[in-house]
Amino acid sequence: MDTLQKLDMLSEASQYDLACACGTGKDDRRKRSADGSWIYPVPLPQGGHSVILKTLLSSCCSNDCKYCPLRSDANAARCTMTPEETAKIFMEYFRARKVFGLFLSSGVIGTPDRTMERLNDTVKILRYRHNFRGYVHLKIIPGASDAAVQEAISLSSAVSLNIETPGEKYFSQLSDSKNFLNDIVRPVKLMSNMTAKGEKFSRVKCTTQFIVGAADETDRDLINYVDAVYNRLKFQRVYFSAYQPGLGASDIPGEQRFELQPGDQLTREHRLYQCDFLFRQYGFKKDELCYDPSGNLDLTRDPKQVWADAHPEQFPIDLNRASREELLRIPGLGPTTAKKIIKLRKLHRVKALEDLGIKGKQLLKAAVYCC
Ligand code: SF4
Repeated sequence: MDTLQKLDMLSEASQYDLACACGTGKDDRRKRSADGSWIYPVPLPQGGHSVILKTLLSSCCSNDCKYCPLRSDANAARCTMTPEETAKIFMEYFRARKVFGLFLSSGVIGTPDRTMERLNDTVKILRYRHNFRGYVHLKIIPGASDAAVQEAISLSSAVSLNIETPGEKYFSQLSDSKNFLNDIVRPVKLMSNMTAKGEKFSRVKCTTQFIVGAADETDRDLINYVDAVYNRLKFQRVYFSAYQPGLGASDIPGEQRFELQPGDQLTREHRLYQCDFLFRQYGFKKDELCYDPSGNLDLTRDPKQVWADAHPEQFPIDLNRASREELLRIPGLGPTTAKKIIKLRKLHRVKALEDLGIKGKQLLKAAVYCC
């Protein structure tokens, strides 16, 4: 195999990791570039979009994560790139202005530290040999030593380690070879401490990902963990990846949930992202979310509407008197519209949502909750 063939295979295999912010749209998780390689669109911090080269270093793995198509006993195509060839191919893409940055992960080649050494070596070649100062997001391999994690953070613009499940109880349903406390919690705490406000590496962003529906966790379990990731670990983002039946081992709960319709896990993923937005942009707290008796979100309505319907005493909200926080509680209205309302009402009374250019389904949804 030449490097391009390996890159094609490894880049395609990296599609399930969303912790680099790619894949926020439904259909844009990856695209073929003009030369046929996989590239991944990502939103830029300053607005707009660009593309990154996102790839694994290796699709070999000695771990047994039962939801993963690359687990050691799965019949997957395997190959490995060296740090030298990964750095070289990335620089070719970067110099040709095809990508602006790199997301690099890997299956576990032998041991976590041996794998981290290869990941770190790739970035060292980029930073010191090619003088590349741009964006590099490195995956922290579960179980890596503190020294390897520290080196990765010192080399990167962003790092992520997938927590995967809300706690040890669910984690043990999905892996016999990984230990939740040592392999996940320990490095995640180190990432948090090293990148905390005021620390030397506070510029480095930390993110994580949960796999949704591979174990039998509830949405309430996930949301409680998401809250801790934001408020205790101070990570910048949480991502969710719906488990896709057929990819994992037959003995995990995600393969046995016959009550779920095709697409339900994706809807669940979407509802969890809506909750994540409610925390980050709408001022909601975790205990305000409403769950069904089994501890799960309503798949048929967005979580803000479920909250609004459970609190009729708070509505209708007066568009001309409400604070920004109150406006953000109206289903169908977001931060941009709330800002528009506040600006407009300084000039004249807001008579109707139509005055703000709101129409269609959004209008029908919001009109019920305001006056
Ligand atoms: S460590 Fe687990 S999730 Fe990562 S590639 Fe190996 S089997 Fe897959």
